[in-house]
Amino acid sequence: MREMGESATALLADFLAGLDKAPTVPPDGAAVRVTRPQPAGAAFDEVLGEFRRAAAWATETAGPRHFGFIPGGGLFTSALAEYLARGFNRYTSVAAMAPGLVAVENSVVEWLAAEFGLPASAGGNITTGGSMANLSGLLAARHDRLGDDLAGGTVYLTAQTNHCVPKAMRIMGFPASAIRTVPSTPDLRMDVEAARSMIRADRAAGLRPFCVLATAGTTSTGAVDPIAAVADLAAREDLWLHVDAAYGGFFQLTERGRRGFEGVERADSLVLDPHKGMFLPYGTGMLLVRDPAVLARSHALFDDDVPYLQDLAAGELPDYAELGIERTREFRGLRMWLPLRLHGVSAFREALDEKLDLAAHAHRELSAIPGVVCGPPPELSTVVFSVPAAGNRGNQVLRERINARAEAFFSSTAVGGRYLLRMCVLSVRTHAGHVDDAVRVVREEVQRMGGGTNR
Ligand SMILES: *Cc1c(COP(=O)(O)O)cnc(C)c1O
Repeated sequence: MREMGESATALLADFLAGLDKAPTVPPDGAAVRVTRPQPAGAAFDEVLGEFRRAAAWATETAGPRHFGFIPGGGLFTSALAEYLARGFNRYTSVAAMAPGLVAVENSVVEWLAAEFGLPASAGGNITTGGSMANLSGLLAARHDRLGDDLAGGTVYLTAQTNHCVPKAMRIMGFPASAIRTVPSTPDLRMDVEAARSMIRADRAAGLRPFCVLATAGTTSTGAVDPIAAVADLAAREDLWLHVDAAYGGFFQLTERGRRGFEGVERADSLVLDPHKGMFLPYGTGMLLVRDPAVLARSHALFDDDVPYLQDLAAGELPDYAELGIERTREFRGLRMWLPLRLHGVSAFREALDEKLDLAAHAHRELSAIPGVVCGPPPELSTVVFSVPAAGNRGNQVLRERINARAEAFFSSTAVGGRYLLRMCVLSVRTHAGHVDDAVRVVREEVQRMGGGTNR
């Protein structure tokens, strides 16, 4: 065990040490053939080597030059926590089976609920990601407001809402017509007045509006819906307020983030993605709810009546199996708790503040490149830009050329039919030098295409 552990740690340490210089996309010839499981086992070093080669054939999502989609990097200390958690293999779905570790997990839920100004009675569940957390939260909304009869139930969101939400609606058994797309204002935030009119018209037409969804940082451009106004609307129209803060949520730890999310403390359910804003490895999302009893009721058909669990008494700590979709689940608490305890919450606040500064800096620098037009200054850490004179195809080529240099990786989005390059600064490993390098790459490639003017 010690030898294997040391080899694995050495491999990981070398990998992490190399990330600062690592290419953002795999070199040509990185394709590998993976050996299928064989009757006979192999030496650990051989298997490890095969893993290392397979892992190299990838977009470098762990590195500091990854600005695509929503990067987080992945904290080594969280990976270490995961190793311990898996090694001990405690069953944390039912509190009585491992109360100590359920308390560890619960402490993280309570800490975050307090950061968001939710009442002390709030609760939640750590999930595999934002998609599962949205599904669970919307299920609570559905059950609380519609009961078993889904007919005519409608949810209000915008075209900027993450597409895992329509997916959740499908899984919950709603027809497409249950999704009511509220227009956005030009800054891509929900037009709350338009939402109010739609809700009233829908109700008059016999539909049953039950939930309004605000996004605290859209995946596409990072726009933040006017949460306080949406919360007022929810209160006045008696709707469940669901806030999808999967991308932006952890900026709540910063002063600027808190200001932008005013009203979030009124959410009935709130989704976060620690694998984004808390820099965790992929696979950790989070749902917070104002009333955990509603969450439990919405996920169970029969109450305490499961015969094979009859000897497990309910106690002070939550039984997570009752608060979510999974029965047996990973112990996801340690991967959050250990880094928080080890580095301190302040380290996370500072890192998130740094990302806000870096994105503002990138926006200024990109705006200064002749031919480049940026979207509005970022509310969070996402900057969108394009060279309008190059047209959609030209901007697509620009992105391909930038990414092909393997010095910075950008993804893209579209707003109003216009192709935009998209830079999201959220990796824990991204610092000022990496942002400056990325801006330089953009400047050089824009110049190469003649500032986009003579395509
Ligand atoms: C990423 C994201 C999701 C989906 O979360 P996963 O963790 O990818 O399942 C939902 N909503 C928003 C706003 C997101 O950014």
